[in-house]
Amino acid sequence: MTKKKSRHPGKVYLVGAGPGAPGLITLRGKYLLERAEVVVYDYLANPKLLLHAPKTAERVYAGKKGGGLHAFTQEGINKLLIDHASAGKRVVRLKGGDPFIFGRGAEEIEELVAAGIDFEVVPGVTSATAAATYAGIPITHREYTASVAFVTGHEAPGKKESNIAWDKLATGAGTLVIYMGIKNLPIITKKLMDNGRSPDTPVAVVRWASTPIQHSVEGTLATITEVVKEAKITPPALIIVGDVVKLRKTIDWFERRPLFGKHMVVTRTREQASELVALLEENGADCLEYPTLHMEPALDYKVLDDALANIGDYKWLLFTSLNAVSWFFRHLYRQNMDARNLGGPRIAVVGQATAKKLYDYGLKADLIPKKYTGEGLAEALIQTGVTGSKILLPRAEKAREILPELLEQAGAEVAVAPVYRNVPPQGRKDELRERLENRSIDLVTFTSSSTVDNFLTMIAADSKEELHRLMDPVKIAVIGPVTADTVQKHGLRVDIQPGQYTIVDMVHSIVTYYQQAAS
Ligand code: SAH
Repeated sequence: MTKKKSRHPGKVYLVGAGPGAPGLITLRGKYLLERAEVVVYDYLANPKLLLHAPKTAERVYAGKKGGGLHAFTQEGINKLLIDHASAGKRVVRLKGGDPFIFGRGAEEIEELVAAGIDFEVVPGVTSATAAATYAGIPITHREYTASVAFVTGHEAPGKKESNIAWDKLATGAGTLVIYMGIKNLPIITKKLMDNGRSPDTPVAVVRWASTPIQHSVEGTLATITEVVKEAKITPPALIIVGDVVKLRKTIDWFERRPLFGKHMVVTRTREQASELVALLEENGADCLEYPTLHMEPALDYKVLDDALANIGDYKWLLFTSLNAVSWFFRHLYRQNMDARNLGGPRIAVVGQATAKKLYDYGLKADLIPKKYTGEGLAEALIQTGVTGSKILLPRAEKAREILPELLEQAGAEVAVAPVYRNVPPQGRKDELRERLENRSIDLVTFTSSSTVDNFLTMIAADSKEELHRLMDPVKIAVIGPVTADTVQKHGLRVDIQPGQYTIVDMVHSIVTYYQQAAS
């Protein structure tokens, strides 16, 4: 392979994406995604995994389902991998579950070998073990079974004679896990019973295992076809056959979490949302991220540029938010400057988090007030004596005026320099509307007044009646009284509000709310 490598410096990494939960990819898989130049991904690979790939990486959806524009054939996918690798790219081919378990991984590799392309294969958590685990079914158990077989329920089309020895499998393996078997379920169960497996054998069917929309049902070989039909279970789903299914009533954990099956909207910006999303998901919720805040560069940097040109005249440089820090430095770097150009003023920040952010840029705050508010900062600064001093305040284009006002009243000269703008995001409005229309949202979380205002702008109800029609069936959770007030001003009802105004307390209140509703 070494000789060919020089001709084809690119490489294809066939990576198992795991069954659906984004945390179930291997560390090796994540490492390779982080370094990918091209990612070719499947219908069953969770698109959230693409967030690991560099922004610059080319993303190609090669799913054969829900195909949209790019419904690739297997030959098309093979060609795509070969073309990109031949062009010297690091290509990650991301496949649901494990690439070598009913994943056609080997077929892709065979083509790569024929084309002389270097490759690596990274295993993944296959959906069989994930479905079992997440449905509370151990696929082996000393007292129930010592063997397990993975079987496809959907043989390659065009095959006349079945390759699968159902007669032997029926009683030959203690547990059977059948992939792609939903359509053939009546035939499969019949074959198993005809060949000696008891009609009373417990069976579970698990759809979209390990994801927030997991759906599992239980029956026996005799009844499961009817149960699945009634529950309207469609692929992707796995069939688990065997006595181990009995353990589910003790071990089932995933679907028992308090927020399981609830679809909750998170309105914070993507950067800020992670803690809230993580806590809600921990409790089983399906989080729908519709950021209602989006930041863009300021329209005009004149105030900032003038101040930077005369930075030696300034006594203080103030930062009142993390965003102000990052947008300030973004502009500084674009102007070919860095922290060394800030010699002169002392630096004050509004609180510890902002101080920490500043430290990331190599600067230490000289002053942090005891009270982490604009008023607190003004007070602390005024105590140092600001009369006649020039103060630079980089911040959002529109922000509370209290800080510059207090400082000016104390005789300071404040240069308010816009470094970014908050704009309501345009994206995915229609999808949000549609979800509200078809009632597939249980709860909306609001963590500030602007998230409320922008959310309502996004859903754009024509009238009060329409607003109520869309929002009345939805529960509303807010972080604190100011946000609650804004919700009520729009004529809407607040259902959940924590006693302490933190994300952790808000999630705790949401969990308690649903637990009480369920009991
Ligand atoms: N390589 C994959 C399997 C691909 S075959 C793996 O190792 O898991 C596709 C079939 O896998 C689907 O029809 C379904 O039977 C099963 N499957 C994949 N992901 C699943 C999931 N999250 N929940 C239930 N079944 C799943």
